[in-house]
Amino acid sequence: MKYIEPHGHMVSRTTDDYQRIAMAGCEILCEPAFWAGYDRSSPQGFYDYYRQLTDYEPKRAAKFGIKHYTWLCINPKESEDAGFAREVLQIIPEFLDKPNVLGIGEIGLNKNTKNELAIFEEHVALAKEHDLPILIHTPHLEDKLKGTRLIIDSLKNANVDPSRVVIDHAEEHTMPTVLDNGFWAGMTLYPESKCSLARAIDMLELYGMEQVWMNSACDWGISDPLAIVKCGLEMKRRMYDEDIVQKVIYDNPKKFLSKCPNFLQ
Ligand SMILES: [Zn+2]
Repeated sequence: MKYIEPHGHMVSRTTDDYQRIAMAGCEILCEPAFWAGYDRSSPQGFYDYYRQLTDYEPKRAAKFGIKHYTWLCINPKESEDAGFAREVLQIIPEFLDKPNVLGIGEIGLNKNTKNELAIFEEHVALAKEHDLPILIHTPHLEDKLKGTRLIIDSLKNANVDPSRVVIDHAEEHTMPTVLDNGFWAGMTLYPESKCSLARAIDMLELYGMEQVWMNSACDWGISDPLAIVKCGLEMKRRMYDEDIVQKVIYDNPKKFLSKCPNFLQ
């Protein structure tokens, strides 16, 4: 079963994890910039992080035959300090020409604050200026619906083409709004919180198999780098044909990623 991991934070993972996902059929992995588990003490910390994402991680993945791509931004959590975030935003353009950069992400909202929204809008302007797709993080729990609506309103005001934006961490109460407005929706599979394998497949059955992808996030928290392939097996257990499983875990993410200028078909 070949698959694409469209959202995995491999800086938080060991080389053994690369080996495991390669053995399970992972051909392509995309790593959005995110919060490192601590706030960086200077914008220069981001400079080194972008070097890691555009230079070191692609080499580590290539040892296992995995093509590594990345998305760049300052995450919403650290965007609360708008002055700091603007200094980081100045660094990003220098890295946008690196061969594995797909676009701007994962930007979005964490606590739905004014500062987060202002920095979100500045990232969207940067993506538009460079004609790049966008990957979006939506807030957790009770902030999710409100945050998703704020994000969609902001993108509409900026006249962003929704077919070049994926809104990730979608759940039952946000997925219809995301899809009805023409955006792509991502589902994040987690063993403990967020979306279980069975729940993700239920959502596919409720809202259809178009403009959706699944990812494992595989970050610092309890998460499973093999979640996508396990979800594929669960779909097979529910008697889905092989071609439907491949559409969800390979063809769909490939279709979206093909909108990124640096993505090699
Ligand atoms: Zn993430």
